[in-house]
Amino acid sequence: MRYLKKLENRDLSLTHSMIALGSCTMKLNAATELIPVSWPAFSSIHPFVPVEQTGGYRQIFEELEAYLCEITGFTACSLQPNSGAQGEYAGLLTIKAYHEAKGDHHRNIVLIPSSAHGTNPASAVMVGMKVIVVKCDERGNIDVDDLKAKAFKHRDNLSALMVTYPSTHGVFEVEIKQICEIVHQNGGKVYMDGANMNAQVGLTSPAEIGADVCHLNLHKTFSIPHGGGGPGMGPICVNDSLAPFIPGHPLVKTGGKSAIPAVSSAPWGSASILLISYAYIKMLGREGVLAATQYAILNANYIKARLEEKYSILYTGEQGRAAHELIVDLREYKAHGIEAEDIAKRLMDYGFHAPTLSFPVAGTIMIEPTESESKDELDRFCDALMQIREEIEEVITGKADPKNNVLVNAPHTLGQLTSDTWELPYSRQKAAYPLPFVRAIKFWPHVGRVNNGFGDRNLICTCPPIEMYEEVE
Ligand SMILES: *Cc1c(COP(=O)(O)O)cnc(C)c1O
Repeated sequence: MRYLKKLENRDLSLTHSMIALGSCTMKLNAATELIPVSWPAFSSIHPFVPVEQTGGYRQIFEELEAYLCEITGFTACSLQPNSGAQGEYAGLLTIKAYHEAKGDHHRNIVLIPSSAHGTNPASAVMVGMKVIVVKCDERGNIDVDDLKAKAFKHRDNLSALMVTYPSTHGVFEVEIKQICEIVHQNGGKVYMDGANMNAQVGLTSPAEIGADVCHLNLHKTFSIPHGGGGPGMGPICVNDSLAPFIPGHPLVKTGGKSAIPAVSSAPWGSASILLISYAYIKMLGREGVLAATQYAILNANYIKARLEEKYSILYTGEQGRAAHELIVDLREYKAHGIEAEDIAKRLMDYGFHAPTLSFPVAGTIMIEPTESESKDELDRFCDALMQIREEIEEVITGKADPKNNVLVNAPHTLGQLTSDTWELPYSRQKAAYPLPFVRAIKFWPHVGRVNNGFGDRNLICTCPPIEMYEEVE
């Protein structure tokens, strides 16, 4: 317990400050939503007990499926996939089964825009499909002419389009309905990646734009906590044409009439955490989930309005607005030796988790505040980024050393800041307390920079060598 607590103390979590990870939707995970997960009535049931013992769970599944269908505009839901990526896999398998039921075994081409999340092409390859990349224009939208040309060229073998809406660039693409239509006209189905559902719930839906199937990241939009990647739930919702194919299970009856095989071990995936999303929807109600969407969009556009005085914001919609997230372009500072990573690391000194870095565009950060953050918190976050912009200016104007400054040296660790020697060309104060509000919320990083590139490419074992045990003996 002490070891785990020690690790927890070193972690910057949502209990400290906002985590603006774009596309990840790091929103409030309310205690009231989480508590029932620990109740023995829910936590002590094995997934394969006789069905008559799971009446309560069944009721919650049914109600939750109905809510998710209403939210997406679809008619059937499978609560089986355990993650967004697994939902993509399951959804693509239902599309495959649909084509095969019509005798179209050869349809194996999936169109995917270049801005897509990496899981999209990965899932397509896992179900045995061939990926054709569709271009995006300079505003980040799908290049409709390119889509048209590719959908037409591959019309005899087209299986599906995978599209994220609002786009991974954080924009509501105005041509989305036309995009879905083009794919249908050429014999394909539309898979909508629902990870950005936080910008849609109550306002629009995948069915509204003309998609056939989507997954929902319950660990994003619907409040399941997911620091460090899990646990998650990625149910899929489908329209009538795909409903017969939603996943079944060999031991427990579930899924459609011509169900594809199970995609998870358990018939309803990680069932106990569905309680969190159920409570989220139940407690917010119809008006509440709509208000959450509206605040998420408002908060993103508030940040955009503040930051665009000093930063360039990449990609906005026709009305100059973002959806629920925005991309800050930091590439212009590279010529001065300052990169997006330096800004992400410097935010830690201010007590904030880094936003999404270099996705979907290298050299940028993507910010998603969610509806959960108050105006005070949004302002502190913007103040930090504006002050960082001043620090960048010091480098540009030559006031600060281009190779030895608060940005490239960030984050400043507790050990470094309390050491008896300090040889950096700026003060400890400037390193540790760059703005007055930081004093009240100071987070002390324990570890400085690591070489990410090296770490990604080399397996490093930190276990002591076996000879060490020998010596102890
Ligand atoms: C998070 C995300 C996914 C994948 O979801 P996982 O649960 O991490 O597998 C897919 N697409 C987009 C756009 C996402 O943000």
